[in-house]
Amino acid sequence: RAKENGKNTYQYYQSGFNSNSYERLLMENELHNAIENNELILHYQPRYSIKKERILAVEALIRWNHPRWGMISPGEFIPLAEETGLITKIGAWVMETACMQTKEWIDKGYPNVKMAVNLSARQFLQRDLVTFIQSVIEKTEIPPQLLELEITESTLMKYEETIFFTIDLLKEMGVQFALDDFGTGYSSLGYLKKFRIDTLKIDQSFVRGIGTETDDSAIATAIITLAHSLKMNVVAEGVETEQQYQYLKEQKCNEIQGFYKCRPMDASNIEVLLSNQMKNNMNKQIVLK
Ligand code: C2E
Ligand code: MG
Ligand code: MG
Ligand code: MG
Repeated sequence: RAKENGKNTYQYYQSGFNSNSYERLLMENELHNAIENNELILHYQPRYSIKKERILAVEALIRWNHPRWGMISPGEFIPLAEETGLITKIGAWVMETACMQTKEWIDKGYPNVKMAVNLSARQFLQRDLVTFIQSVIEKTEIPPQLLELEITESTLMKYEETIFFTIDLLKEMGVQFALDDFGTGYSSLGYLKKFRIDTLKIDQSFVRGIGTETDDSAIATAIITLAHSLKMNVVAEGVETEQQYQYLKEQKCNEIQGFYKCRPMDASNIEVLLSNQMKNNMNKQIVLK
């Protein structure tokens, strides 16, 4: 009986999962058609160079605009897409859309905006990942250096050997790599030596405590120092306050990304920022003359 109860408890726990499984199934079904129905969109969040005081890059962040459920954030459907394998199709759509957007900005007179695209671990299981990315770069005619792929430490750990070759091939093409959410995973520092990563992104959890938690400030500083010692670029994610910004500036962090400067927004709003930036820059040059 007790044993049965134990079992029931377990099943109860499981049924918590199962009761959601209807929702999951429903969501999975809807997600299947999201691309065809044009329900997926990319927002872009600027990355600001502290020294140059300008946008050097944007990160593409996916949203799902469902006709009945409204706007759904990636945290709610990317894990499902990963589990079901739909991430391959969605990831391909993200890559194509982001690179096409980069091309559009080049054509509109903004030739230096780097595009950061998040890659799920599962996408590395795709055997044609390298040729696919190469074909997108060729089709959109963007310089490969403008594409930066964001991966996490756990991705590096998952399929270590295959990932090593995949990254190496993409690096040979000129594509850049960033290590996202840095400091939250379990990878060893040896990975920084083994993989040719260009950029470290300090996880928001450390940035949040800057100024209030001495440990977080110390960790942020340590990551900046580490990145610079290894001749890597370093970006602070989730910068929300002036205080955090000032601290990161003092510590010579290269770039910041966060609500303090800018929320993720659609492409047309990014263009307004790029256009203003260009005008300001021209004014500065006139003043200097
Ligand atoms: P991430 O790559 O670490 O992206 C940064 C997240 O932090 C974004 O959430 C962004 O909106 C949010 N953020 C930026 N600045 C601030 C800030 O100042 N304060 C706070 N509280 N948050 C800030 P978002 O857009 O909800 O994306 C969540 C995660 O979903 C991303 O984390 C990434 O792991 C994943 N994701 C987003 N788009 C894609 C995609 O196209 N493909 C894949 N595979 N994953 C994606
Ligand atoms: Mg990211
Ligand atoms: Mg991140
Ligand atoms: Mg994240």
